[in-house]
Amino acid sequence: MDFDYSPRVEQLRRQVRGFLDEHIVPMIPHHARELAAGHRQPAFVEDLKRRARAEGLWNLFLPGLRDDEPGQRLTNLEYAPLAEIMGRVMWAPEVFNCSAPDTGNMEILHLFATGEQRERWLKPLLDGAIRSCFAMTEPDVASSDATNIQTSIRRAGDQYVVNGRKWFISGAADPRCKVAIVMGVTDPDGEPHRRQSMVLVPMDTAGVTVVRDLSVMNSHSAEGHCEILFRDAHVPLGNLVHEEGGGFAIAQARLGPGRIHHCMRSIGQCELALELMCERAAERRAFGKYLHQHGTVAEWIALSRIEIDQARLLVLKTAWMMDRRGSKAAAKEIAMIKALVPRVHTTVCDRAMQTFGAMGLSGDTPLAMLWTWGRVLRLADGPDEVHLRSVAKQEMQRAGAERGASAPYLTPPDRRD
Ligand SMILES: Cc1cc2nc3c(=O)[nH]c(=O)nc-3n(C[C@H](O)[C@H](O)[C@H](O)COP(=O)(O)OP(=O)(O)OC[C@H]3O[C@@H](n4cnc5c(N)ncnc54)[C@H](O)[C@@H]3O)c2cc1C
Repeated sequence: MDFDYSPRVEQLRRQVRGFLDEHIVPMIPHHARELAAGHRQPAFVEDLKRRARAEGLWNLFLPGLRDDEPGQRLTNLEYAPLAEIMGRVMWAPEVFNCSAPDTGNMEILHLFATGEQRERWLKPLLDGAIRSCFAMTEPDVASSDATNIQTSIRRAGDQYVVNGRKWFISGAADPRCKVAIVMGVTDPDGEPHRRQSMVLVPMDTAGVTVVRDLSVMNSHSAEGHCEILFRDAHVPLGNLVHEEGGGFAIAQARLGPGRIHHCMRSIGQCELALELMCERAAERRAFGKYLHQHGTVAEWIALSRIEIDQARLLVLKTAWMMDRRGSKAAAKEIAMIKALVPRVHTTVCDRAMQTFGAMGLSGDTPLAMLWTWGRVLRLADGPDEVHLRSVAKQEMQRAGAERGASAPYLTPPDRRD
């Protein structure tokens, strides 16, 4: 087992960190001002994207890039430390064309799209020319159980007709969002995991309405988390992704990489929160001591270091498993990190906020926003409880297969002499 990053990854880490420090971090106040002025997509981000692409820091997330597609060819394990660096600034991943939900959508198209679909949607996404959204969750049903999805995708001649209501659809408020991958029911009487399909619905299709951008923890993000109404939205049969009845399986394929990417970026956000906490604890004095000299604060710092390192190791192991054995074989590890990392994220940010006192809750530090994102991740891409259920289920299957193996370790009263 080698815990060092390879020379190539070390080089890319230096490059991504250098780019972040030199070109992105100085623009944070400018970005905030633009958003406050209602500009969802500040123009300078496009300039930064061009620069990142020219430096080869582009599409780092997609392991299976073809030779004719722009970007680096990295494994998940190689990408993890780079995503961690990008995670330090919420909007930075887009600069490298590595931001959710586009990355997950590109994964889907990469795996399942026809030649025509690749040309129309995957190519501009890989070029960073358009953005996309992924529409699964619905207000009327418990969507953590995807078999509940009700949106109807009905065949009519040479078209599909989409009817339903989705919400919390990230990215849909961005004017550059040109296509939604919509999950709905094509076969209401089919076996529960074969009822659903996915279709590509251009956002300018008649019958598609972005009803509102929902607030999340009382604020609105640049890309929006939107409610979308599909009312008799017609798309050609050629917009089906993969096959009818394949929606559930595609969702599983998408969510593996999507989840680990969130976790990788989260680790970077935890690191930033810990750095801020240490700085503050080293400069602020209360009751005759620096804050870090108070046992409680020292313990927060130590526990945060331990928890972040634990989380990172599990994320890296998961990435390694995905590379070696595929997302399906790593399903338990993916569920484990998705349940663990957002908890570490919110805990570390909470400690950092507390160390900053009132300032920690204000917009003068990124901490409140980082905490909010950690909280979001306890729901987005599936709530903690569903991931824990899945881990427990797999552990019980393992225990079932080894039934009785632990019996020799028991010492009942009749065997105690
Ligand atoms: C900011 C944000 C962005 C999002 N972006 C997207 C997006 O782009 N596209 C998209 O489709 N969705 C998106 N979502 C939605 C997210 O994926 C769903 O909210 C999530 O899957 C849960 O579905 P639900 O809200 O319908 O909760 P429900 O399914 O109603 O579940 C409610 C609660 O029930 C409990 N629960 C459920 N199942 C179990 C169980 N087995 N055991 C124990 N408890 C359980 C959990 O505590 C859960 O939180 C986003 C959400 C947020 C907050």
